[in-house]
Amino acid sequence: LEEQLRHSQKMEAIGTLAGGVAHDFNNLLTVITGFGNLMQMNLQEDTQLMTYADQILIASDRAAVLTKRLLTFSRNQIINPSPMNINVIIKSLENILVRVISEDVEFKVDLGGENLTVMTDSGLIDQIIINLAANARDAMPNGGMLTIRTNIAELGGESLSPGDHGKPGKYALITVTDTGSGMEEETVERIFEPFFTTKEVGKGTGLGLSMVYGLVKQHKGVIRVESALGRGTTFRIYLPLIESSAEEKKSETLCFPKGNN
Ligand code: ADP
Repeated sequence: LEEQLRHSQKMEAIGTLAGGVAHDFNNLLTVITGFGNLMQMNLQEDTQLMTYADQILIASDRAAVLTKRLLTFSRNQIINPSPMNINVIIKSLENILVRVISEDVEFKVDLGGENLTVMTDSGLIDQIIINLAANARDAMPNGGMLTIRTNIAELGGESLSPGDHGKPGKYALITVTDTGSGMEEETVERIFEPFFTTKEVGKGTGLGLSMVYGLVKQHKGVIRVESALGRGTTFRIYLPLIESSAEEKKSETLCFPKGNN
């Protein structure tokens, strides 16, 4: 329990730090992009200077994507929540997911549970699943199997820890399982920290799972990892269902003030 509390406090502190850095950095990026655009407008086409300006703008666009992921890690709420069905979202992602994973990886989808409706914003759950699938692919360079399952699950009492952002109740459960490399316990402990990566420079940013963590937190959901070295990894994402006390949950979610960055 002590351990879990320390972990959640650490994640909270990292979130505050990351959010602050991302926010300031984003302001600087706006300046770079703004002047870069001005430069482009005042330069002749096909001069060397024009290609320099292009490179500056391409790099600052990339930096903007990274800061956005960092901001996701620290943000606490969904901006425009509306009810959406998890199974419908996953179904519509299948084509993209097939392209994310490599040809050697077998891909199975098993959608269960009735009416898995959660409050979310368009694209957020897509980002969670695509990130998990990309990591699963990287963990299976020699092929394997990626399975995505959905179901209803109940969380309460013992299954919730002090650091969890969820409350006891019914959840839509998304399970993403790979048969890849798995992780050491020391790795598992750090995977949600921003910039933690075991991948070589240029391949990993260490921001994928910190973004996933932030997105789950925004949904007041819960994320769990189970990994066995050499056997594979399972991520479980629990997102609060809105079927039972729909009205109460709705007003609670819709009353958030807009934006916090
Ligand atoms: P990145 O993918 O850029 O390294 P992430 O935050 O997505 O950043 O992941 C952090 C680290 O967690 C990875 O570098 C890897 O060591 C580990 N990891 C994540 N998903 C898996 C997985 N499915 N199997 C094995 N290791 C994983």
